[in-house]
Amino acid sequence: MTESTDRISPLHGAGGEMMEQLLAEHVMPHFAARSVGRIDVTAMDDGATLRLPSDGELVVTTDSHVVKPVFFPGGDIGTLAAAGTLNDLAVMGARPLAITLAVIIEEDFAIADIDRIVKSFADVLAESDVAVACGDTKVMGRGELDGIAINTTGIGVAERAIRDAGAEEGDAILVSGTIGDHGMALLAAREAFRLDTELCSDVASIWPMIRSVLPIGGVHAMKDPTRGGLAAALNEMARKSGTTMEIEQAAIPIREAVAGLSDLLGISPLEVANEGKAILIVAPETAEDVLAALRNHPLGRDAAVIGRVGSSHPGRVVVTTPVGGRRFLDMPLGDPVPRIC
Ligand code: MG
Repeated sequence: MTESTDRISPLHGAGGEMMEQLLAEHVMPHFAARSVGRIDVTAMDDGATLRLPSDGELVVTTDSHVVKPVFFPGGDIGTLAAAGTLNDLAVMGARPLAITLAVIIEEDFAIADIDRIVKSFADVLAESDVAVACGDTKVMGRGELDGIAINTTGIGVAERAIRDAGAEEGDAILVSGTIGDHGMALLAAREAFRLDTELCSDVASIWPMIRSVLPIGGVHAMKDPTRGGLAAALNEMARKSGTTMEIEQAAIPIREAVAGLSDLLGISPLEVANEGKAILIVAPETAEDVLAALRNHPLGRDAAVIGRVGSSHPGRVVVTTPVGGRRFLDMPLGDPVPRIC
């Protein structure tokens, strides 16, 4: 039997020398070249140990990533696995400390692609000074899995965790940038469409931006509008706080290309995933300063106030259209784009 040296074989997930070699040559070098934060990751023991912070709350989140296609305009499954998990920590007001990396790979997957994906993952961690605490590798047979799936668990620490239920009447509703970019870029890149557009995913770790906002104070609630987009996130925040999210449609920043593709396909940009954005619900006293701090960061250049928290329809989202009509923005049944993250 001849073993291809540039493709994943079942032995790469079998816990022996082949797996060790894969990790040593194609995984670890991407992390070794960088500062991986405050955790000793050289031990490779049965488990990782973390020193608990002396005060504050530990925040833990987990995500599985099955995005299709694996490589897309603006990123890949590695970028997404890192940013998606770090962003869930960031919107809890938590500084990310460490992340786990569990990878399930289909036999015959190109090892060069593993290199690309792990490098993307490591690049995102380096920007936010986050360590890999531990990892796992498994291989499934041809046809038993579509390429690659990644599970990540993130661990962060917050002085005081920020909940998505904290909206109060009178608060300003902010978004940190343009809406719908990730979902529409993926749709355009899918085999069925192959549309030639300049659409690009917004996938990025938002922690460096959120970090600059938190000291200002007055942030009552945050959420990253991923699956189901702005519509799902705002509905969830309205329900949990019993308030009304009152939004001005014209104030929502949306790229022209996103709006164009959305019209073409009949899919609302408000219902598709974002992977580098936050919704912030902010006390009126600090809203202008928070907006200025967001805009001061490269990821927040297009930040905007899109509405106010009211009380007319508890648990609902109400949109004012450009011509002055008012309609409910309902909770979507699900993201219209499957395998978006
Ligand atoms: Mg989230």
